[in-house]
Amino acid sequence: MYCDKFCRPINYLRISVTDRCNLRCIYCVPATGIPLHNRNEILTYEEIVRLSRLATRLGITKIRLTGGEPLTRRGLVDLVRMLALLPLLDDLSLTTNGTLLARTAAALAEAGLCRVNISLDTMRPDRFSTLTRGGALKQVLTGIERAQEAGLTPVKINMVVMRAINDDEIDDFARRTITDGWHVRFIEIMPIGKETPWLTSRYVSTEEVRCRIEERLGLLQPVLLDDGGPARYWQIPEAQGTIGFISPISDYFCLDCNRLRMTADGRLLPCLFSDHEIELLPLLRQGGNDEQLQARFVQAITAKPPGHQLDKQITPCRRLMSRTGG
Ligand code: SAM
Repeated sequence: MYCDKFCRPINYLRISVTDRCNLRCIYCVPATGIPLHNRNEILTYEEIVRLSRLATRLGITKIRLTGGEPLTRRGLVDLVRMLALLPLLDDLSLTTNGTLLARTAAALAEAGLCRVNISLDTMRPDRFSTLTRGGALKQVLTGIERAQEAGLTPVKINMVVMRAINDDEIDDFARRTITDGWHVRFIEIMPIGKETPWLTSRYVSTEEVRCRIEERLGLLQPVLLDDGGPARYWQIPEAQGTIGFISPISDYFCLDCNRLRMTADGRLLPCLFSDHEIELLPLLRQGGNDEQLQARFVQAITAKPPGHQLDKQITPCRRLMSRTGG
């Protein structure tokens, strides 16, 4: 396995399969949308599989598909089936907004997908529609049920907490770990993209979220659970589900960073918070051989910075999460 300059083993690749999304979450995408790539500018499934195979030979054992909204790309089940056959891959998962999951969950599981994470920031239908600029909450809730039935477990629900937008629902989400066995993860909002002053004004720290849960639902117990990601886990004593906290701002989560990102148009991103990109697509389409392509992965690993510098007020990355593949 390859380590970066700071001795962090890199075994996790997040692949954005499309820059398109069927929602326009107010903190993620501008109301007018974003300029989208043409189809020929996006990696084909065969190209994604080739690059993934090369990455697994360098020590990548976990792949997560994301977007945009990955389920808006036609034939995603076929990609899952091809990736699941990679002999060196241990774990294949998907991050989705859940709106299109109900009809594909069973097929994804059958094709070899291990798990799904579902982004859900509110459980109030009207608010969901406002927050996502037109989304239907019912579709997501049905998607969660179907994912559980299909065995894409543990289904993790990711909630980005935003002051005066959805922070009054923290308890409701935490209670679902008791009533429905949900695994809920509260995420600190990150100042990424162009609207950083607005994003910063919505920030609620993990510490505040935890205190608010404990005030209402009692002391949380730490859970020793290492899923290879940045979350730290806790539990309400009688709950089946867990409560995770992802704290990119208040807890310097870069120390354990084990990941690379690949955009839908074939750029490797050494770090979520930097604009540094390493292109794969031209080399791939001009007949680059495996060694040359692998060298680009090694270059990306080597280029990983020690961590983000959001706390130092350095201008953060201008790329939107929907482009990066969150
Ligand atoms: N469409 C898929 C989904 O909804 O999960 C995948 C792409 S979406 C960009 C991935 C995740 O990024 C979502 O959970 C979203 O909430 C999160 N996200 C987007 N912008 C963010 C920000 N500024 N801070 C924290 N999380 C953000």
